[in-house]
Formats: sequence, structure tokens, C-alpha cells
Amino acid sequence: ALRNWWAKLPANKREVFLEFIRRHRLKLLAGVGLVLASFAYYYFSHIQETPITKRRRFIAFTPEQFEVLNKLEFDQQIETYKSKLLPTEHADTQRVGRVVRQLLAGNEDIEQIKRHDWSVSVINDESVMNAFVMPSGNIFVFSGLLKMVDNDDQLGMILAHEISHAILGHGLENISHQHIVDIVFISLLGFLWMFLPSDLIAAIGTAFSRFILGISFMTPYSKMLETEADEVGLMLAAKACFDVREASAFWHKMAIISGADPVHQLQSSVEFLATHPSHEKRSEHLDGLLAEALKCRDGCHCSALPKEDPRERVQRMRDQIIRLNKDKNIEGVLKI
Ligand SMILES: [Zn+2]
Repeated sequence: ALRNWWAKLPANKREVFLEFIRRHRLKLLAGVGLVLASFAYYYFSHIQETPITKRRRFIAFTPEQFEVLNKLEFDQQIETYKSKLLPTEHADTQRVGRVVRQLLAGNEDIEQIKRHDWSVSVINDESVMNAFVMPSGNIFVFSGLLKMVDNDDQLGMILAHEISHAILGHGLENISHQHIVDIVFISLLGFLWMFLPSDLIAAIGTAFSRFILGISFMTPYSKMLETEADEVGLMLAAKACFDVREASAFWHKMAIISGADPVHQLQSSVEFLATHPSHEKRSEHLDGLLAEALKCRDGCHCSALPKEDPRERVQRMRDQIIRLNKDKNIEGVLKI
């Protein structure tokens, strides 16, 4: 409308208008400054601290608003997977429930653990190796993940990571972030569209902004959230007496299976979101936090850990794969 109005304006009127802008430019600049200042005020007045890690972050919505969104999302997930959900009495659902109960019982001192309505559902799909948690505390595990973990300690480590996402409010933080990015991009696109009014420009602009956003901003950001959930998850698992050494053992195993370990060429169809840190990095990072987690576990009256370090088990698996790969090189020769 602004562009059309300007195009239709006679030349002398345009000159009057431009003269008006020149004369009042200081006031106009002050106006723009005021808009930016109120935007900054909005942003900084919505900064909150994460529980446990005390990191400052922007939150745009109230927990009540988020709950409504959450309820809609939960219904949608149930609708999507309802034909594949295992019954609650199924051994797999019971197993996940048992591990989650142990995690929650060991962390009752955390306010956010008490505040959530926890539930677990197992989705019967062995081709997917994943688990996710809804911000409200509904945990979904794919049966492919249950096949992939060596024991309940590894399952506990993964579920502790998922529970951490929920208690740290990562879902709320994510949509708040998205909200602010949307405001900035929509304003920029609106401005661009004023000069180049074509639907194609709008479509290309949106796709381009999403692409730039994905590679430059959202990916490192979600990796940071993943690392935070790994760190908090390790401590939750330690307090609940799980064998915390299994976390780095699991991710090292994943690195080997997915071929990320440079010694191996073994290919696998295991896929993980690119927003997650690589399996190797994750394993190394968790290894670095192990001493502190073990100390925390020691202070929680847990029974002693098995003598054999699970990381040695994974190391043996790695050595075995190397041997098998070496033997494979000679076609038609059966080594005895
Ligand atoms: Zn995660």
C-alpha cells in the first residue's frame, strides 16, 4: 500500500513529503530509536534462568500458554503413532517405565522433576533408533533404540538425557527463540517486499532465510542444548545409581557402528539428527565429565559398579571389527 501510494503521488507532493522528512529527521530517528528500544526492552524483560545450569535465556511465552501448545502436540503424536504404540503391559513398555521410575526416584529433590506428569510410550518401529520427550514429560521411545542399547544402564543414560530436555525447558526455549527470529525475518521480508512485490521473492526470501538460519544459527544453538542435556543427564543418572560409564561407551559404540570411527568402514543405516553433536564428540565430552559424575554417584549410597569398565567392552568390539575387516580382504580364503 505504501509503495502504491508513493507511485501515485504527484511529483510536487513527493517533494513536499521529502522536505517534511528532512526537516523532522531527528524526530523520526528518535521514533525509530524508540521502537528499537522497546524491542530491546521486550527481549531483556523476558530473560529467565534455566533451572540447574543457571544459564540466562529468552522465554517469550508463559508456562500456561505453552501447556496449551503442548497438549495439542501430545495429541498429535498419539494420533501419528497410535497404531504402533505397544500396550502398557508389554515387556518393553514396562522396561522403559522401570528405568524412568529409577531416574525420577533418584532425583526427587529437583523441583522440576516433581512438577511434570511423567509418562512413557514405546513406539513399535525397529528401524528407528531414537527417543524424544515432550516438554510436559511424556517420553516416547522407539523399539529400535531398545534393540541398540546393551543394557538398562545405557537406556537410563539416554532417558536421563531426554528427561533433562524437559526439566531444563528446552522446548519452551526453542519456540521462544523461533518466535524472535520470525519477528526479525518477517520485518526484513516485509521491507524487501515493499520494493520488490512478487510472491516469488517472498517464497525465495523465506526459503533462503530458513537455510541461512539453519546453518549459521539454529544448528550450533541446538547442539548447545544437546550438550547441556548430556551434562545434566549424566548427573541425573549418577544420582539414580546408573553406571554412568555407559554413556560414553554407548556413544563410542554408535560412532563405531555408524562408521565415524576412522578405523572402520562398516556402514550402517543408523541415522541421527544433524542437530546433535557427532557420536565421537559426544563420547569424548561425556568421558571428560565422568570423574565428577562418579564422585556424585559415590555420594548417593549406590551399590559398587562392576569391575569391568563398559568402555573396555566397546574397545574389544572395535578390535574385533578391525580383525574381521582384515580377514575379509582375501576373497575365497577361509581362515581357520
Ligand atoms: Zn537431545
